[in-house]
Amino acid sequence: MRFISADYLYTLDSKPIKNGVLQINNFGEIINIFKNKTEIPSQNIEFFNGLLCPGFINAHCHLELSHLHNISNSVNGFSEFLEIVKTRDNYSKTFITRAIKSAEDQMIKNGIVAVGDICNTIDTLELKINKKLHYYNFVESFEVKTEKSKEAIAKALLIRDVFRNNNLKATITPHSAYSVTPDLMRLISNVSDESDYTFSIHNQETEEENILFKDKKGKFRDWLQSINASPKIWNNRHSSSSVLDELPRKRVIFVHNTYTDILDLKDEYYCTCPCANLFIENKLPDYSIFSSDNLCVGTDSLASNSQLSIIKELALIEKNSDYSLEELLKIGCKNGAKALGFSKYGTLEVGKTPGVNLISGFEFSLTDSKVQKIV
Ligand SMILES: [Zn+2]
Repeated sequence: MRFISADYLYTLDSKPIKNGVLQINNFGEIINIFKNKTEIPSQNIEFFNGLLCPGFINAHCHLELSHLHNISNSVNGFSEFLEIVKTRDNYSKTFITRAIKSAEDQMIKNGIVAVGDICNTIDTLELKINKKLHYYNFVESFEVKTEKSKEAIAKALLIRDVFRNNNLKATITPHSAYSVTPDLMRLISNVSDESDYTFSIHNQETEEENILFKDKKGKFRDWLQSINASPKIWNNRHSSSSVLDELPRKRVIFVHNTYTDILDLKDEYYCTCPCANLFIENKLPDYSIFSSDNLCVGTDSLASNSQLSIIKELALIEKNSDYSLEELLKIGCKNGAKALGFSKYGTLEVGKTPGVNLISGFEFSLTDSKVQKIV
C-alpha cells in the first residue's frame, strides 16, 4: 500500500486538490483519496513536487508503422506522406517487430497507459498479448472499388478475429469517408456486434477531402477516378461526417479534424494529433471550436511524429488554444478513456486503476514540463 502526494492532485473528476493524498494498493487500484495530508501519518507519505494526474490515453496511434520513423523530417502534404506509408512492407519482420517494441517502451516511459491503435496487420499481436498497455484495436478497412468490398471485409474479419481470439479488444472500422465505398460501409455495419464500443475514422485531414464531398471535384476526385473508385463515395455523401448515417449507433472518434468547421461538428468524440498535423499538412485544427468535454488526443504513428508523447502533444495544443491546464489534462486523460470505453482509466477515482503520472518542472507552460510514471 502506498500514500502518494504532490503539490496538486488533478483527479479530473473534481476540482484540483492542493496537497491531496492518493492511497493506492499493490495492484495500482485507488483505495482512497484524502483532501488533506494531515489525515495520514506523515512518515508514510511519498511527496512529489509538481502535480499528479491519471495515466495518459493515446487515442490514436498506428503502432505497426513505428519502423517508418525518421524516413523523412517533414513532407509536403498528405499525398507525399502516403508515399512513405506505401513503403511499409519493404522491411523485415524482425525490423518491424523491434520498432514496435521500442515504440511501446517509449509510450510507457512517457506515462501512456492505454491506446486506441489502428491495425491493418497482426504485426503488433505478440506484443499486445503481454498487456503492458491496454489497447483498443481498430482493424481498419478501406476499399474504393465496389466489386472488391467483400474481399476487403473478409481480410478485416480475419485480422479482427485473431485479436479477439487472443482476448484483445478489436473492432472493424472504416479508414475514412473518402476511402470506403457505401457498400463496404454496409458490410462493416453488418459485422459489427455488441462488443464493438466505438469506431475511429480519419476525418477532414486535408482541404481536398472537403472539396470532394461539397463540390464533387478537386484533386481527391481526380485521384479516386484515376484508380477506378466508385463515384458513390462522393455522390452519396455531402460531407465526411455523412458516414454517420451509414454506421450503427455506436460512439465515433473523428481523428485529425484539421479542416473541420464549427458547422461540421456532431455529438461525437474528436481526436487531435497536432504534431502529426504539423508534420503532414503544416496546419493545426481550429481548437476554438472544440469543447474540452469531447476532445481527446493521439500521437498518430512514428511515421509522422518524432515521438509518442501525450505531454508533447498537449504542450502544442496549449500554445495554440485557450484551454486551461485542467482542460488540457482532461483532453490527455479523461476524454480518451471515455471515447474508448476504458472505464478503469482517465480519472483518479476510488476503485479505478488509472496509472498515476507526475508532471513537474513547469511554471506557466507545459512545454518545459517532465512526465514521470509514478504508478
Ligand atoms: Zn491515423
